[in-house]
Amino acid sequence: MLKSLAGGLLALAVSTVAFAQADDPRKPPTFRLGDAATPLDYEATLAIDPKAERFEGVIRIRMRINRESPVVWMHARSLEVMSVEIRQGSRTFAAQATLDGKDFIGLDAKDGKFTVGEAFATIRYTGALEPLQTRGLFRQKEGGEWYVVSQFEADSARYAYPCFDEPGWKTPWQITIDAPATNFVASNTPEVRLTDAPRAGWKRHAFAITKPLPSYLIAMAIGPFDVVDGGTAGRNKTPLRYLAPKGRGAETRWAKESTPRILEILEDYFDMPYPFEKLDTVSIPQTVNFGAMENVGLITYASTLLLAKPEEESPAFKRRYAAVGAHEIAHMWFGNLVTLAWWDDTWLNESFATWMGQKAIGTYKPEWQSGWQRSVSRSRALFADRLPSARPLHKPVLERGDINAAFDRITYDKGAAVLSMFEAWLTPERFREGVRTYVKERAYGSATSRDFFKALGDAAGKGDEALAALGAFVNQPGIPLMDVTLRCESGVKPALEVKQSRLRPAGTNVPEMQWTTPACFTYDAPGGPKVTCAEIANGANRVPLSGVAQCPHWVAGNARGAGHYIVRFDEALTRQALLSLPTLPEAEAVALVSDAALLSRTGLLPMNKALVFFSRGLDHPAVGVQQAAIEALKVVHPEHLGTVGYPATATAKATIDREFAGALARKYGWTEKPNDTDAMRELRVVLLPYAADFSGDKALRTEARDRARQWLRNRGGADAMMVTPILDTAARFADTATYEALEAEALATTNQRDRRQLLSALAKVRDDKLMKRFLALSIEKRDGQDRIGGRDVLLSMDDALEEDAVRRPVFAWVRENFDALAAKLPPETPAQLTRELGRLCTPEDRKDYVAFFSERAPRYVGGKRRYELPLEAMDICIAARPRS
Ligand SMILES: [Zn+2]
Repeated sequence: MLKSLAGGLLALAVSTVAFAQADDPRKPPTFRLGDAATPLDYEATLAIDPKAERFEGVIRIRMRINRESPVVWMHARSLEVMSVEIRQGSRTFAAQATLDGKDFIGLDAKDGKFTVGEAFATIRYTGALEPLQTRGLFRQKEGGEWYVVSQFEADSARYAYPCFDEPGWKTPWQITIDAPATNFVASNTPEVRLTDAPRAGWKRHAFAITKPLPSYLIAMAIGPFDVVDGGTAGRNKTPLRYLAPKGRGAETRWAKESTPRILEILEDYFDMPYPFEKLDTVSIPQTVNFGAMENVGLITYASTLLLAKPEEESPAFKRRYAAVGAHEIAHMWFGNLVTLAWWDDTWLNESFATWMGQKAIGTYKPEWQSGWQRSVSRSRALFADRLPSARPLHKPVLERGDINAAFDRITYDKGAAVLSMFEAWLTPERFREGVRTYVKERAYGSATSRDFFKALGDAAGKGDEALAALGAFVNQPGIPLMDVTLRCESGVKPALEVKQSRLRPAGTNVPEMQWTTPACFTYDAPGGPKVTCAEIANGANRVPLSGVAQCPHWVAGNARGAGHYIVRFDEALTRQALLSLPTLPEAEAVALVSDAALLSRTGLLPMNKALVFFSRGLDHPAVGVQQAAIEALKVVHPEHLGTVGYPATATAKATIDREFAGALARKYGWTEKPNDTDAMRELRVVLLPYAADFSGDKALRTEARDRARQWLRNRGGADAMMVTPILDTAARFADTATYEALEAEALATTNQRDRRQLLSALAKVRDDKLMKRFLALSIEKRDGQDRIGGRDVLLSMDDALEEDAVRRPVFAWVRENFDALAAKLPPETPAQLTRELGRLCTPEDRKDYVAFFSERAPRYVGGKRRYELPLEAMDICIAARPRS
């Protein structure tokens, strides 16, 4: 159901989930638990030995029974229940546990009934420590030692204990963990008691009762960790610790340096101390489908994000940790202190944390949030939102697949871009005021999107107007496209004519949407560029340019490169923009180049014009713009290049690759120079492999091969950021000897980062025989053991299918070997093999894709959507091919 507010434009969905248990109380719920019972608090004691395959647990749940019933339903998955004891008042009885085999456990009073009022359920059970996936309680081996860590978001706490596993239930939790004495044990709160456990050689770790928390934010880590004391940070002197695998404590150096500062920047923004008792930063050897998780007081990170040896501590590594860390720590206020009432507001959690993370990084190290880096998230958002079936940020969550589908590019990147746009419109000061009020008023409770918008609108004094404008971007999918013409008539101030409508990719017929878009335009003026902002509605708008009497030489549509909309110029403005592009401010030039890329990929800008934008971008003195141009060239689809016309687009691109990209690559070279900026280092990472591939300069390939071999002998032999581009290039053009050297090291190394880089490179090998050899290796066993683990194979398949040059043969191999592949991948991930297939771009390939995946993908949770999205991308790609 859609509920209309503020003049009908703002339609906030209200949860319409049909609560189960309507007639037969003994029938399990279909999705949500409903309101028959309310959890009040939990006491969980888990016995976990990371060396074992299973764990044991006892959970005592205090709840309020709201309606008399013979059975109480809650969540549990893959658990084996030994006993259930119920106490209500003076009455104690054993209940029967009914597991539906999927998500639910029913506590059945058999002949009796649960009466209205408080009840205590004590459930004894065992569960599995997940070996491949990283959800529930999972175990992984690192350096010969076993570790157990938890990952409960979104709906995986139920693998660890029976509970009311929905985000709206916030209760105190008392966690106790028994573990063999050689392990270090951490949970959300400080340890308050350490005693001997009932089992010989085990210790019992009791943790302080938590603040009210939802099940998905509970966390634990057990293993022989190196524990690095990080001192304290912030207004309440929050204690910080870093947990690394045994022997690798020193590799948390950068986290230890940057985390306190990030925490303090966030405290300043929220004007509130860090809201929990402590902060542990914990390494997970290898994660599946997430990088880090904001559990209260215990943030987990994939080891490659968190740990680095001194020679691996590149600027890119530092920026990535700081950016992810800022995102996760921002969640402590936004998500953890104030929690979403239901998963339909996942976007609010994630887009706010993404936006806040970017802002915090901009304060911490401004150079990390400028140029190309600043535009990455916006470009990704626009690319995801171009699809006809792009979902709105706010969308009802009606089944299990919807929960995980909500964690996508739209949620993270579009949400962040929309918040940026509205921050600029409402002004940063008022926006911040709204955020502070929202967090303060709802601390330790729950909230919805509407509560947040209202706080923003009130703080900005724009009430319903802000609600309506923001609501249009939140509740509707799609991108506003602004067609812009410059009018300069004598005696009248120069003005822009702006026509707004929904961006419709070639071959699609998506419905129109209505927006009021806060848009800003930059243009040249005597004394430096000027900016004029306006609220653009659908249809025709006239925007007089302030501060200029004469016609400006150029106009850029996205001031400071912000805004979730795209500007398309008429012929005259395009010509002017191209002439002046190398003199435009960096952010505006980056947006021009990357928007031209998006328009050409969606069939809305002819390739010959887009190529001119890219070559002009390479002429810009700012490396951020040069990088935008290389990133744009990198994704030009071979199917979009033609041989007709003059110059034919294939020839024109070859010329740019040879004369611009090749020359630039030779200038920058494979090695860093002492006074390189971080932006220059980032550019080199994409430029060199691109030029080695496309410029025809064989020397670039030879040098990459020599440097790869040198790196194999001595890890200090290449700059940390250049290891991936060097290995990728060496592997793409590998002869047998080079391939074998890389393969041998990939199989031998125990260093997670090295293995990942090597396998990712091998997945790109072009030689047909060697490619087949690598693919065969990925499903090969030796002595009953996988030669490459399932988590690694999942990533290498993405790496291979991402490569235009090998996609088709790799896809054919995947079809032939799907069953063997699916058998070893982490549960429910095989449908992810469709992820990079949206770049298939011929009707024949599309046919193969449909024939193979239309029935297979939907067998996995969320698989139907995973099947459909690439199909839409393919259709656009095919429709955008040049007609000849
Ligand atoms: Zn997040």
